[in-house]
Amino acid sequence: MTEPEVSPPLAGLAGGVPTPPDVSRETLAVGDPAGGAPGETSFEDWADTPLAAASRQAASLRHATAPPLPRPPNGCRVIAVANQKGGVGKTTTTVNVAAALAMQGLSVLVVDLDPQGNASTALGVDHQAGTPSSYQLLLGEMALDQVVVQSRNHQGLSVVPATIDLAGAEIELVSLTSREHRLAQEIRGKFAQYDYVFVDCPPSLGLLTVNALVAAREVLIPIQCEYYALEGLAQLLGNIELIRSGLNPELLVSTVLLTMYDKRTRLADDVSTEVRAHFGDSVLETVIPRNVKVAEAPGYGQSVLDYDPGSQGAQCYFEAAREIALRAHREER
Ligand code: ADP
Ligand code: MG
Repeated sequence: MTEPEVSPPLAGLAGGVPTPPDVSRETLAVGDPAGGAPGETSFEDWADTPLAAASRQAASLRHATAPPLPRPPNGCRVIAVANQKGGVGKTTTTVNVAAALAMQGLSVLVVDLDPQGNASTALGVDHQAGTPSSYQLLLGEMALDQVVVQSRNHQGLSVVPATIDLAGAEIELVSLTSREHRLAQEIRGKFAQYDYVFVDCPPSLGLLTVNALVAAREVLIPIQCEYYALEGLAQLLGNIELIRSGLNPELLVSTVLLTMYDKRTRLADDVSTEVRAHFGDSVLETVIPRNVKVAEAPGYGQSVLDYDPGSQGAQCYFEAAREIALRAHREER
């Protein structure tokens, strides 16, 4: 395999990129529930057995009986889920962490800021063109309470949907005053009833993401455990630094989550080591495995916690959400 080119933004990251993968698919374990790679069907077979059904039931019970999570000690936490790379798990993380927190009694709002509206789909809310959405909110045409809807499948979880109208907002915002502060102006101080607000960012560092980073106090960066995972991260961190120095001094990269981890590859461990060396304690101990149930759930307008609570993906997102809530409680008390 040829060595991929290391892009200049990587220079700021400790150790640069990991070495190319040494993936040996011959050693894949049959029936590994973390599976999902092409050709692996054993998990699907297993999923239909009585044992799997019992395991799902046990997981639901475990979720329902987990000790309650504390509310954030300093009021609502507003968290932008950002990474300008597409397909790294921003939306999946937003939806499943939000659902897991809501499931554990907290009040959660998801603001979908990606014109593709994937978070809206996954949470089972309408988002066809013309639906009151984050577009009207950003342009100041509607207030927060006019665009918020309750997620059909998740109690305690509200959503500001995104429609394709948002695709034009990036350009329309340019000519508006305080264009970077539009979202902050519309949501700050207006979410007393929520414990958590997650803003799902599009895969770019344009004005939509800037609005999310100005409105939020924290950034959650999902990092996919793959070869190019770290590429462009230095650029994101640079932008966060710029926003902190000029527009939002409180902004903090509080959480990094490793996603789509495949324990059968050495590469996943390399990425994990690299990310932990750079981000230290911000990296959650819980790692999200690559799991086919996680990918299937949005098709049913469900989080993976509802779709298949016994799956590894559901259990890990449940744990990740607990870690996010309990860490804040420990640190900010
Ligand atoms: P982003 O929002 O960063 O573009 P997504 O959350 O939409 O990324 O994820 C990209 C794709 O990867 C989606 O098809 C999603 O279903 C899939 N995916 C995300 N996380 C996992 C996972 N842990 N296991 C398997 N598939 C995943
Ligand atoms: Mg997305």
